[in-house]
Amino acid sequence: MTRMFNFSAGPAMLPTAVIKRAQQEMLDWHGSGMSVMEMSHRGKEYMSIAAKAEQDLRDVMVIPDNYKVLFLQGGASMQFAAIPLNILGDKKTADYINTGMWSKKAIAEAKCYCDVNIAADTSSNGFTTVPTQAELKLNPDAAFVHYTPNETIGGVEFDYIPETGDVPLIADMSSTILSRPIDVSKFAMIYAGAQKNIGPAGLCIVIIREDLLGKASKQTPAMLNYETHASNGSMYNTPPTYSWYMAGLVFEWIKEQGGLVAMGQVNQRKAEKLYAVIDNSDFYGSPVAKNGRSWMNIPFTLADADLDAAFLAGAAEQGLITLKGHRSVGGMRASIYNAMPEAGVDALVAYMQSFEKSQG
Ligand SMILES: *Cc1c(COP(=O)(O)O)cnc(C)c1O
Repeated sequence: MTRMFNFSAGPAMLPTAVIKRAQQEMLDWHGSGMSVMEMSHRGKEYMSIAAKAEQDLRDVMVIPDNYKVLFLQGGASMQFAAIPLNILGDKKTADYINTGMWSKKAIAEAKCYCDVNIAADTSSNGFTTVPTQAELKLNPDAAFVHYTPNETIGGVEFDYIPETGDVPLIADMSSTILSRPIDVSKFAMIYAGAQKNIGPAGLCIVIIREDLLGKASKQTPAMLNYETHASNGSMYNTPPTYSWYMAGLVFEWIKEQGGLVAMGQVNQRKAEKLYAVIDNSDFYGSPVAKNGRSWMNIPFTLADADLDAAFLAGAAEQGLITLKGHRSVGGMRASIYNAMPEAGVDALVAYMQSFEKSQG
């Protein structure tokens, strides 16, 4: 068996230890005589799996007691509509910060439900920077402020948490959640599709402060109403049981690694190694401003784009796969979430250096 170093932006690598554990438990979970996939979500075995996963996430992220944690379907993209439907309340307008492709999608969806005030927009520089706090044109009457702390496609990550006063701050953390400690209390709501840094696809986690619940507009479908899921322990209907279980194994694994402080240290080191090769050569380049560089998604270009195909082919020979950049950005992109071992980054760094030499 060979496991590749898979630099996919998502679905992405999972820790090998987690997959092995799932394999051991596949046919018979803890003497239940069933696979987790075959369990009733209301049975005591599954209820214990679900509760432990939630508690482990609460421990790892230090989520305050006045926040609900929801395990939903529909991905992060479903929340783009659910957020205005649930959070607008009596208000008619919301602030959105536009820093890339995912912000844009959230904005397009929000426009179906409210007036969107674009508090900042970095499209003019090709989404390669983070707006400063001073540049944010926030509306004090907005129902909420929405932003994308880490733009997965552009590789742009905020180096600060926007200060929004009394206006609730909502963050699409799909590609940065669990990558380092964050102060949950600074946010009214955090959401993240699972397939980057949490577990397999099919699950979206919503962490929402309780005072935001119960204000959904009348037309909100029950399935999109956070109150429905909060008051039913995310079991109003059948939740994505297996993805929830796998996420729980990942949370346990993070605890074993030393929690988010330890994850953050490794992630910072991994990212710095990669940016060092990029910055110390004229052969490679990063389009992203230095203070906005993501630890998780690292786009880079070759000075001569005609070498892209050779670079990718050579990388694949070394077991370094899915490095092709997003079609909208071009070049390469290395996504190095928690589950990418440091050895994978070391192997990529070594390959980049040898490829550069070979091209003289
Ligand atoms: C991947 C991603 C999404 C979309 O997630 P889905 O679960 O596929 O809907 C949204 N926002 C960000 C920042 C992402 O990285």
